[in-house]
Amino acid sequence: MSSCNSYLVYCGERNNKSFIASDSQLKQETQYKYYNTIENKEIAKKIRIPVVFHVLYRNSSMKISKESIQSEITVLNENFSASNKEIDNIVPDEIKHKIGTANIEFYLAQTDPQGNVTDGIIYRKTKRKFYSFARPIFYADPLWNPKKYMNVYVGNVRVNKFKNTSGYVDHPRIWRSPEKDAIAVSYNRMGKGNKLLTHETGHWLGLRHIFERKKKCDLVGDGIDDTPNQKTATSNCPDSKIQCGNPIYFFNFMDYSSCRVMFTIDQVDRMHNVIYKYRNELIRLK
Ligand SMILES: [Zn+2]
Repeated sequence: MSSCNSYLVYCGERNNKSFIASDSQLKQETQYKYYNTIENKEIAKKIRIPVVFHVLYRNSSMKISKESIQSEITVLNENFSASNKEIDNIVPDEIKHKIGTANIEFYLAQTDPQGNVTDGIIYRKTKRKFYSFARPIFYADPLWNPKKYMNVYVGNVRVNKFKNTSGYVDHPRIWRSPEKDAIAVSYNRMGKGNKLLTHETGHWLGLRHIFERKKKCDLVGDGIDDTPNQKTATSNCPDSKIQCGNPIYFFNFMDYSSCRVMFTIDQVDRMHNVIYKYRNELIRLK
């Protein structure tokens, strides 16, 4: 574990009182196994999500390459199928049975909203120095219908005072703000095996931080049953860490550690339920 790189990534998932209500609503609405209501189980098993990247750049160093974007897709697919190389080494043996395999496959969109052939990558030159919640990056290039595509915006992303925030996504109140239903990630967090896009995609599919609102160890937390209570975010990659009387899952994608490698079974359930209930138009049937 000591070979993990160390850096602290702040994630700008917005967190305020108005989300607490929608959090419990989300839990209530997604605890039901929607998969069971789909008649053709073979169709339902295959979750393939088309992705469009909107790259907003001011100079050539920000204009990340198509190869780098393709490698992000590869990493996403490894992480969402629990086939990433590090998972075996990092997840303790006694936790391995909790590893969730989402079996979600992401691919670069092949047709745009008008039906034209595309490679799923849009480059747009911009003059703006940075984007934040107040200046949403999502307005810099037209959003593709978020019901049918996962939109990823890449640019100089900041969240208010957190200058080193490197990504954000609105809480999935997707029934309220479809115009912001997209993921923002900083250009300098792309590639190199970074876990940021996986983490933000987790938010986009209904996951909260694993340490969410557990400062007193007795609060609701992330609304996921099989993640232990955790007080604070983890930086770097510790050998082990105890909080709230239990070893915590700092190796979970929804923490901030540098060795995030897994989702749990219940997190996968939540993501599947969010897809089947709210994002079912994403699923291309093959
Ligand atoms: Zn986050």
